[in-house]
Amino acid sequence: MGLMSAHPEVMGGEGLRTRLNKVEWVIRRYRRASQLAVLLLLILSPFLQIFRFDIPTMSLYLFGMRLWVKHFFFFSLLVTVVIYLVIAASVVFGRVFCGWVCPQNLFNELGRQWDARLGRPGTIALSGIIGLFGGFVVWSYGTDGIALLRQYAAGEVPAAATVTILAFGTFFAMAMAWWRTAVCRVACPYGHLQSILSSASTMHLELFNLAENRDICASCGLCFETCHMAVDPRTMEQKHCVTCGDCLDACQLVSQARKVPRVLNFVVGAGAERGRGLKALAPRLAVPAILVVLLSGVTAWGLANRDRVSLVVSKDHRAVLTTGGTQSSGGVMRVSLMNLSNTTDTFRLAAAGLPEGWAHFEQETVTLEPGAGVEIPLRVTPTDAAKGLYNFEVTVSGVESGVKESFKTVHFVGN
Ligand code: SF4
Ligand code: SF4
Repeated sequence: MGLMSAHPEVMGGEGLRTRLNKVEWVIRRYRRASQLAVLLLLILSPFLQIFRFDIPTMSLYLFGMRLWVKHFFFFSLLVTVVIYLVIAASVVFGRVFCGWVCPQNLFNELGRQWDARLGRPGTIALSGIIGLFGGFVVWSYGTDGIALLRQYAAGEVPAAATVTILAFGTFFAMAMAWWRTAVCRVACPYGHLQSILSSASTMHLELFNLAENRDICASCGLCFETCHMAVDPRTMEQKHCVTCGDCLDACQLVSQARKVPRVLNFVVGAGAERGRGLKALAPRLAVPAILVVLLSGVTAWGLANRDRVSLVVSKDHRAVLTTGGTQSSGGVMRVSLMNLSNTTDTFRLAAAGLPEGWAHFEQETVTLEPGAGVEIPLRVTPTDAAKGLYNFEVTVSGVESGVKESFKTVHFVGN
């Protein structure tokens, strides 16, 4: 009699076990590489302008692009895409973000190794050094870190930067040397979110107690002892499991010694759906997956077509007041211009729609660096005008970049 019919609780039997072994092979082979690659990316990102804020100029570098406050809508869409990606991955694989991406968990694991190899004093010293470097990287996410290094080299000690680096450095060192998984279990918002996202079908660990007791769990407890997240993989209480696979290695050792197949395995799906997990999870995956595709498209389109120049024309009430009251015919408008591109450009202003000779810009061309803005007065001086509203359009064009922007406005002639 076949294994499945003899033991229907072991859905999929040996075939499933073979497939799971492939999943496990991927986990063992690529997880550390993924953690290190993410860590490297996080360290280099602010210096290669892959992603960093520039708080002094209220701008943001993203994949080499410079974005300004006006573009932040598209940045927030991108953040939403990333959140939905993490949700989709978490619905299928559980706390995979912690085990594969989050540096805190990498240092949780390394910390245990440092304890064994360097002893507590060595771990604390190393955590302090790495923590301070981490504090410097965090500072560099908000402003130019290389400029800060130059300041230190010149003997200056900027107070705000130094205090921020020390504060973050202390936090990171404490998290590495002492708090470790408590940060993940207690403080991390993603950890709490994961508890909500997981279901019985989410990838989890299960015992394969197969026929004739030939590879039944030996209850040695080595899997539990090995787990750096203090999860007992033999139970269903696995919300803190970070998919590291260390318990599988432990069980493999025990099972080899017993000359039986490993009894502990990753499983996607639950009950009758075991081994067909993606199908079971499809309804919960559909919404995040659709949103990721839609929002990615809108974000890419928005970033590619973002404004390179901002133009706003408004009535200059300050000018009206200083000239001694409301002017019904003539008037001063304020043209606010900002260079939202990544390069310095010269901008040319023009007004269309007003009768000949009415519009006078104080300056018709202006050169602006990236992020720089200017306000240019526009005097409207009607000559021989009939009463009424005069619609007109102010346009600006970049001489080097060719970008164009226009603003429709109106001027009232009362007498
Ligand atoms: S239960 Fe296993 S896979 Fe999960 S965190 Fe612990 S050792 Fe890693
Ligand atoms: S290591 Fe394997 S055999 Fe030992 S208790 Fe854990 S699951 Fe059972």
